[in-house]
Amino acid sequence: MTQQILYAKLKENFGFEKFRPNQEEIINCVLSGQDTLAIMPTGGGKSICFQLPALLFPGITIVISPLIALMKDQVDGLKANGIEACFINSSQTEDERQFYIESLKSNAIKLVYIAPESLSFLDNIFNSLTISLIAIDEAHCISSWGHDFRPAYTNLGYLKNRFPSTPILALTATADKATRKDISEQLNLKNPKLFVASFDRKNLSLEVRPALDRVKQIIDFIQEKPNESGIVYCLSRKTTEELAEKLQKIGISAKAYHAGLDNKIRSKTQDEFINDDCKVVCATIAFGMGIDKSNVRWVIHYNLPKNIEGYYQEIGRAGRDGLPSETVLFESYGDVIQLQKFASQGLNAEVQLAKLERMKQYADALSCRRKILLSYFGELVTENCGNCDICKNPPLFFDGTIIAQKALSAIIRLQETEPLPVIIDFLRGSKNAYIYEKEYQNLKTYGVGVDLSWFDWNQYLIQLINLGYCEIAFHKQNKIRLTSLAKKVLFEGEKVQLTTVQKINIEKQETKET
Ligand code: ADP
Ligand code: ZN
Repeated sequence: MTQQILYAKLKENFGFEKFRPNQEEIINCVLSGQDTLAIMPTGGGKSICFQLPALLFPGITIVISPLIALMKDQVDGLKANGIEACFINSSQTEDERQFYIESLKSNAIKLVYIAPESLSFLDNIFNSLTISLIAIDEAHCISSWGHDFRPAYTNLGYLKNRFPSTPILALTATADKATRKDISEQLNLKNPKLFVASFDRKNLSLEVRPALDRVKQIIDFIQEKPNESGIVYCLSRKTTEELAEKLQKIGISAKAYHAGLDNKIRSKTQDEFINDDCKVVCATIAFGMGIDKSNVRWVIHYNLPKNIEGYYQEIGRAGRDGLPSETVLFESYGDVIQLQKFASQGLNAEVQLAKLERMKQYADALSCRRKILLSYFGELVTENCGNCDICKNPPLFFDGTIIAQKALSAIIRLQETEPLPVIIDFLRGSKNAYIYEKEYQNLKTYGVGVDLSWFDWNQYLIQLINLGYCEIAFHKQNKIRLTSLAKKVLFEGEKVQLTTVQKINIEKQETKET
């Protein structure tokens, strides 16, 4: 496909002059018939990656999406751009569905959005359709490693068997490596080409605050910028309602939003928010998936999120227009305990607990928060961002190169097979049974860190993880591995700045409202 045709279509049907990062590459890959896995942050522009190819392919593009509530809007948007599209899901009557099925058979439709549980409606007409592309939106829903597992997605693997020569484009904003691998395995993708757009959103400021009297903090925050729109994410439905009420009482146009509310109320709140009639939505994570509002100026997390993927996706709803936007996360010890309880009772408890721990470490971090987020998504950056609370108000640093060298060497000696506590025991020359059983006491580096306490080593190792020198392999018993940055410290004389450990006592700052 020549570049001119792509740009002409982009302008004609979507009104855009330029592609965003990776869009053009993904589109070319899809058009060449190749299975593709596209990872882009929320607001990155995933839809065009299948909508534009759909216009150029001879047959139909099927779009699998979990977001039934948004299908109508998406289809209306496409039609407004002159693109023949429809959706099929359980919200329709039998007659409506039949009508669209006939339109599909007569090849009058380019794109059909369908919920995974409704695919069976198409199954017996598949043979009479030409299907050129299958796009799977929110593809992380297929993986229980991800943060939004949907059982209906697990059957989608059959699509590749059913249409072996039709390219599949899987799209998601959730990117950790294990989830990626799981997605392509479960969808039976054939040598998929992987695209990972940068997750850096420089216009979002990052801040973490102790949850001391957070309602007052939130009120002060909002009252400083009364005309701006924002979202407060809360863990429980009850909190969304209580908080919205408190805000309303002092004249802030706030609404609650959660999955327990009536559909009508929910879509009304959503419309009011999009049209700026309601400025603040106090919501559970049910709010936001697919909401396309470009001028959300701030996102507050009233509670600690369950994991970094979810957190990043939620703060990503701010500032899609690229203008400066603020994000604030309230950290409370009570939340950590409650989330630990949830995680340990759910699917994949071990992985989810480890992810929660990583979330907590982010909140406790003493190094540039953006570095931590980006390294979590596999982007290694060396510059501090200048737009997070730590960069703006840095703690005192000292030359921690020797500490880093000791820690990273210990990880190598243990062949990257041990979790954090064993590394610390090893560094401190502990004589416990596990060390002796593995005969670690005979290895070099054993005991080189006896001068520091267990607590200090724990903090320094977390700092090294946050700085991107090593990482936790969540799906491999939380073993600590080195990243490619580590060799700079071990062999190329790179200096490491660490900060003195202070015990942040968030328990003390708790208030009754948690
Ligand atoms: P995602 O699904 O990745 O969250 P969308 O596909 O909904 O993102 O796109 C987010 C916003 O960016 C939409 O308003 C869309 O119209 C806009 N957009 C997408 N591609 C471009 C582009 N090439 N130029 C300008 N705006 C774009
Ligand atoms: Zn920073």
